[in-house]
Amino acid sequence: MSVVSSSPAQSTDQSTVETAPNPLLIGQGLPPFGDIQPSHVVPGIEQLLQNLGHDLEVLEAQLGQKLNAEPAVSITWADLIDPLSAITEKLGWSWGIIGHLMGVKNSSELRTAYESVQPELVQFANSIGQSQVIYAALGKLKGSAAWTDLDPAQQRIVDAALKDAELSGVGLSGKQKETFNDIQRSLAELSTQFSNHVLDATKAFSLTLTKPEDVAGLPPSLLSLAAQAARDTAQNVEEDTPERTGADATAEKGPWRITLDMPSYIPFLRHSQRRDLREKLYRAFITRASSGELDNAPLIEKILELRSQKAHLLGFENYAALSLATKMAPSVAAVETLMEELRSASYDAAKRELEEIKTFAKQHGSVDAGLEIKQWEVPFWTERMREQQFNLNDEALRPYFPLPNVLEGLFGLAERLFGITISAADTQAPVWHPDVRYFQVSDTAKSEVIAHFYLDPYSRPAEKRGGAWMDECIVRAKIQNRESAQNSDAFKIRLPVAYLICNQSPPVDGKPSLMTFREVETLFHEFGHGLQHMLTSVDYPGAAGINNVEWDAVELPSQFMENWCYDRDTLFGMAQHYETAEPLPEEDYQKLLAARHFMTGNAILRQVNFGWTDMALHADYRPEADETVWEVRDRIAKKATVMSPLPEDAFLCSFGHIFSGGYAAGYYSYFWAEVLSADAFSAFEEAGLEDGTQVSTIGRKFRDTVLALGGSHHPMEVFKAFRGREPSTQALLRHRGLTSQSSKENGMSQAA
Ligand code: ZN
Repeated sequence: MSVVSSSPAQSTDQSTVETAPNPLLIGQGLPPFGDIQPSHVVPGIEQLLQNLGHDLEVLEAQLGQKLNAEPAVSITWADLIDPLSAITEKLGWSWGIIGHLMGVKNSSELRTAYESVQPELVQFANSIGQSQVIYAALGKLKGSAAWTDLDPAQQRIVDAALKDAELSGVGLSGKQKETFNDIQRSLAELSTQFSNHVLDATKAFSLTLTKPEDVAGLPPSLLSLAAQAARDTAQNVEEDTPERTGADATAEKGPWRITLDMPSYIPFLRHSQRRDLREKLYRAFITRASSGELDNAPLIEKILELRSQKAHLLGFENYAALSLATKMAPSVAAVETLMEELRSASYDAAKRELEEIKTFAKQHGSVDAGLEIKQWEVPFWTERMREQQFNLNDEALRPYFPLPNVLEGLFGLAERLFGITISAADTQAPVWHPDVRYFQVSDTAKSEVIAHFYLDPYSRPAEKRGGAWMDECIVRAKIQNRESAQNSDAFKIRLPVAYLICNQSPPVDGKPSLMTFREVETLFHEFGHGLQHMLTSVDYPGAAGINNVEWDAVELPSQFMENWCYDRDTLFGMAQHYETAEPLPEEDYQKLLAARHFMTGNAILRQVNFGWTDMALHADYRPEADETVWEVRDRIAKKATVMSPLPEDAFLCSFGHIFSGGYAAGYYSYFWAEVLSADAFSAFEEAGLEDGTQVSTIGRKFRDTVLALGGSHHPMEVFKAFRGREPSTQALLRHRGLTSQSSKENGMSQAA
């Protein structure tokens, strides 16, 4: 039990404050998870902000003196970046732990504490980003004679900091600055409103089904979810209302409440045998937040207008150009070239696939075989066709993927490719839950420890956020060696530590965690992010690992690792039945390979339509011009869909990625990174995946470039250092079962 007071009131007289140290203020090393309580958050962060606020003032004063000195003096890395990193690293250490716990050990106390300190924290971070003095000092450092003595990683860190400051409006003054700040505030509000509208509109609709014929075809998992939803609703309504009947809902007897939430909506459209109900649900889904009080259409126009104004204030032609200023993609034209290449390669395939679905539907007794197939028929018949062609049951494959085998396979692959040895180190670090593992990574040839990582593999719905992610615990850095300050060994390397978080099926009934193939892919994906974090050779935290890597390139190592799940040697090396040790049947392996290409044209075209619409709205749409938002949508849909949207289709009104998430003029990034990862993997394919010597030679090169250099160089340079040329889309199309339709240069080669 902690003895630290949870009262936010801090005495300024240190001698009267409780003396037990707040574990959130240690500021370095592995987080002492056993000691940290939600009650530490408020006093810890308030104290921290007070200390760091003071440090920032001191730094700004020192820099100010140097900037105004007569005669002029130069500003060095040690004057500016070292003390600034010391501030941001302390902030990152404490706030990183809290953010991490919010994801893996959430509770109402922690959430309340987090929410109460978050605004101050954001404000403090902004005050660094918008500091005029720091901005001027960065400019002076860049203009100084010593600039050329800095290595490329240092220069890129300074350049990125300058750009960040400029994009947050630091270069503006007077009226322009006021307008800029007003726009920022309005955009933040509009984005919250947008997502609230989507949430509320999603909640406002549901289908309560009571008769067995209404739920014909639905899988047991959806029936349980729907019964649960009915019970939850019943709890929250007044006595004597019809919804109260759901209080005793069961998966077997109902009632079942179907909603527009993805886990309910998607399986319903795929499995429900009630065509009329699918239509009802589909129409409700595509018109979410498009009418009445929750109408997002006016918000969309306002958001686009304000973004465009913001871009102009900062000197950009449009918001798309502003977004691309911090990305790998060199220009809107380059993104459009990529979109067109993917569109032309997938369009005919998508059309053909739709024809196949129609034929299949007719053969299998679609209700109105003579008529055009409708949108709400497609997921249903696609699913039936998938079942017939592959009969690939996620559940049936689980026994072949017990977590211990999968880890052994993954670690063996990492050893073959990158020359690293991974071993258990569970006793070396405090953990936040007994299921969490801790591992050590060594360079095999040098027998030298280079990194560590935590693995929190299992789903814990009560306290852990869904999804999977990699996060930084400790970032690699060259730091002052306190123990040997006297001798020549004045610096040492602080080794990186990663968090790998998954949400896979936990062990039950004494069996190990048996994974679906998708869960295996997810683990490989997050491990790929972890590798970039852990195998970095960059000594400056600002560019080590994933730091300072352009957003549209950051998925390169993660998607690259996913490819190995389909590699014969890798897969058969780990896929063994947990009881009988039998290998995965060859037939199932072939199905996994084939399923990867099922409906591939439609899958690609759908994402192209989203990505291109997003780019067009942020590059072409002008509030004062003739073309409305919806006309832009239609113009793109005409070339990038094989089924025109219904007249009432208002998907933009729920396109949260670009209107309330971080993907504005950035949705294309999914493809951009996949081009890089597929092309990187194809280096191994070209050399022969079964050629162990080649695979390890190329693997070392991947380690020394993509994984080691992180954000220290432009991603195009890093990619070229690995591949010996610029990226090509050929590998992505081949992996997705398509071939290129265009002989033109691809958009990526226009990069500087
Ligand atoms: Zn990822």
